[in-house]
Amino acid sequence: MKNKGLLIVYTGASGVGKGTIMKKLLASDPNLRLSISATTRAPRAGEQDGREYYFVTHERFDELIANDGFLEHAEYVGNKYGTPKEPLFRMLDEGLDVMLEIEVKGFLQVKRAYPECVSIFIAPPSFEELRLRLEGRGTESPEVIEERLRTARKEHEYESEFDYIVINDDVDRAAAEVLSIISDIKSK
Ligand code: 5GP
Repeated sequence: MKNKGLLIVYTGASGVGKGTIMKKLLASDPNLRLSISATTRAPRAGEQDGREYYFVTHERFDELIANDGFLEHAEYVGNKYGTPKEPLFRMLDEGLDVMLEIEVKGFLQVKRAYPECVSIFIAPPSFEELRLRLEGRGTESPEVIEERLRTARKEHEYESEFDYIVINDDVDRAAAEVLSIISDIKSK
């Protein structure tokens, strides 16, 4: 049987720098892919349908749930997000390693459905730092920032459910740590 790729769950608070680390991971590891989620959230400036997300209506999202199209799905600060099953399993079957950049409720579902997954939690050096990063990014209103910070504190309580915790004190260092986690697992 052809070796299946690794399913890697990659979770961390909004604003923690997951996206920046992810870009470095994808640029450094040619066998790594990022699963593109579907969401009901509106695109941010610069985001493109089919690249960052599949941007869908609530009706379309519910249709995908009804057709068993998601490995997991969850609501996060008023919007729905889900991992399409079909492209994910196709990539894993091809031997590619696939990262799911998802929040905690989705992670808990994946852990049940796919216990062989590897899970990595990206943590901020502190919550104050996280607030500064979210405010500096300027993509969300103050109310949404507060809600995202509350959610981050709640998610923090699930840290121990993850296989690895990586602190994003420095993007290059954190990316190197994630890459070494992946290569250690693959060399076993
Ligand atoms: P954002 O709106 O900032 O792009 O994402 C908000 C949160 O939703 C982030 O924590 C992100 O990791 C998570 N997320 C993105 N896609 C999915 C998905 O397919 N499923 C789940 N459960 N969470 C997702």
